Amino acid sequence: AKELGGNSYYVYGDEIKSKGLEKMMLVSQLRQGIKNNELVLHYQPQVDILTGEISGLEALVRWQHPELGLLYPDKFIPLAEETGLIVQIGEWVLKEACKQVKYWTDLDQNIMMSVNISARQFQRRDFIKEIIDILNEVGLSSKNLTLEITETIAISDIEHTLKILDRLNVLGIAVAIDDFGTGYSSLNYLNQMSVNELKIDKSFIWDIEKNNKNKMISNTIIILAKQLGLKVTAEGVENEEQLNILKEMKCDIAQGYHFSKPVPKESINEMLSIKSPI
Ligand code: C2E
Ligand code: CA
Ligand code: CA
Ligand code: CA
Repeated sequence: AKELGGNSYYVYGDEIKSKGLEKMMLVSQLRQGIKNNELVLHYQPQVDILTGEISGLEALVRWQHPELGLLYPDKFIPLAEETGLIVQIGEWVLKEACKQVKYWTDLDQNIMMSVNISARQFQRRDFIKEIIDILNEVGLSSKNLTLEITETIAISDIEHTLKILDRLNVLGIAVAIDDFGTGYSSLNYLNQMSVNELKIDKSFIWDIEKNNKNKMISNTIIILAKQLGLKVTAEGVENEEQLNILKEMKCDIAQGYHFSKPVPKESINEMLSIKSPI
């Protein structure tokens, strides 16, 4: 609109101004929303490809906005990262997810909980202490928790990362590299990092039955994971055909709409055949 000159320039300017205002409003609403308990977790099953059983759940945050309805992470997580609110959100998510999986493990469900960790959270000085405090408070064993971090987080400060990963390993907390293959990956560091799992990004899986290149990439990641003794999960599995290809390639775990979308805890209760308390 700019090259039209005159008034249209101001239209462009107003647009920017209102975008900025909208953002500011959303930030203050988010701050309030955290206090008002408007965040909710949905859980997506991770299925053991060999047995067909649910072996884990990934916690994914949503915001029940009073006017706008249920908002997905793309609408507020980037904003939360920009403003630092992600630290508060992340702490809430971790605690809530731990409480929930504690509930399920107490009912004899052998299940892991995966929680997404943002860069800001991971780089905090007392990150490890926060996790230990939550595990103690909730009474959850560390062996039921997996932290998902991206490659980009992992290698942004590699010395620090290696230290944190070693401490998590000693504590018995598993770490997965999320969106594997899309980030700024370094195979050299992968070898040095105490991680337990690779998650193949869904961009390689969604057309795996038609796209030979993506199939080869997925296969290579699976072989790499096996060589390093890591568990490997494919995310974004949407149909039987994709699942069969992954099964042939000896992928361990699958996650995606083929099994279930992320759903509220009540739906997970049903999947695990747990009767809800009346
Ligand atoms: P992610 O960690 O890569 O999570 C997987 C995303 O893929 C989720 O989107 C999930 O709903 C979606 N998905 C799962 N199966 C399928 C499938 O079969 N097909 C397709 N097309 N999509 C599938 P969601 O819930 O919208 O989350 C988006 C991103 O937001 C997450 O990507 C993660 O990076 C971030 N996020 C979510 N919850 C949290 C959180 O508690 N903390 C932080 N720091 N980030 C979070
Ligand atoms: Ca994830
Ligand atoms: Ca992912
Ligand atoms: Ca992703």
